[in-house]
Amino acid sequence: MTTHFRKLALIGIGLIGSSIALAARRQGLVEVISIATRKQETLDEARALNLGDIYTLDAAEAVHGADLVIICTPVGAYQGVMEAIAPALEPGAILSDVGSVKKHVVGIMAPMVPKGVSLIPGHPIAGTEHSGPSAGFPELFAGRWCVLTPGADVDPAQTEKLASFWRAMGSQVESMDAAHHDMVLAITSHIPHLVAYNIVGTVADLETATQSEVIKFSASGFRDFTRIAASDPVMWRDIFLTNRDAVLEMLGRFSEDLSSLQRSVRMGDGEALEAMFTRTRAIRRSIISAGQETAAADFGRPHESPPAPEARLVREHGGGEDS
Ligand code: NAP
Repeated sequence: MTTHFRKLALIGIGLIGSSIALAARRQGLVEVISIATRKQETLDEARALNLGDIYTLDAAEAVHGADLVIICTPVGAYQGVMEAIAPALEPGAILSDVGSVKKHVVGIMAPMVPKGVSLIPGHPIAGTEHSGPSAGFPELFAGRWCVLTPGADVDPAQTEKLASFWRAMGSQVESMDAAHHDMVLAITSHIPHLVAYNIVGTVADLETATQSEVIKFSASGFRDFTRIAASDPVMWRDIFLTNRDAVLEMLGRFSEDLSSLQRSVRMGDGEALEAMFTRTRAIRRSIISAGQETAAADFGRPHESPPAPEARLVREHGGGEDS
């Protein structure tokens, strides 16, 4: 299956958009990359970094003649972006995105997609706490999952074409229903971020003397939360505004479990605490053995090209270390 596209249009060129541009170019997956963004200064930065071939503030102009369009803006911008690009999308094109929530974005995108265009929303489960065009790097997706949520009426050949584009950038790809995606991500990503924002916020409200002690002794656990709580405020605002139901469902379960832990602490129930901590340690080990974490810096990502086609073939057939 060829992963080659004639023209890739990226709407939004922050961490994710720039990483796609760099990875797609490095792997020779596209002939032309056109980039559209909102602010002139961001466009200038993208041009200075040589991320594409065409640069414009007009999203409709960017998608003209594109056979692959990927929206890479915060989810809150989708309505305006779709209104701008929908009339300019070409029949036969694939329209995708990288948004961290899926049911909400399908609700916005699907009604505006012209006939003949395949809507295949996506979400690369890969990121850092940095933003903007200069934050991107071509290895961002290496060894990371990319979830696609194609609608039932989409031609499977188009889904496979997009899947192989992501595989060529180093990702493993899985398709699922948008609502299921949102539930899984609520517990694996959205709640952990909410907890981190909350704990760092609690420290911010402490009196000055205690706060400086917290910073001094941050390596005892707090530091790991500060990295997560430094994530982009606009992007995370949009995630909690648009995945409300799944987040509230999982937050309810989380709160019940926290109350149960609180009770164990209050009652001095060491047996219950130890049993719980033993269970959670096993989950950490299974994440490491699934290749989704290592002790190395940058989650052990290789800072080199994604695997060669032969190696990908092995991985796709279940032989690689990430399969
Ligand atoms: P980012 O670095 O902040 O970049 C966002 C880009 O969108 C910028 O080019 C920005 O351009 C543009 N933009 C913002 N508001 C806009 C608007 N109203 N209209 C048009 N363009 C607009 O963000 P990112 O981290 O790449 O995230 C982009 C998407 O990827 C989000 O939907 C997020 O949910 C998803 N995602 C993020 C991560 C992660 O860890 N960061 C991981 C997976 C998926 P200007 O500077 O010109 O405004």
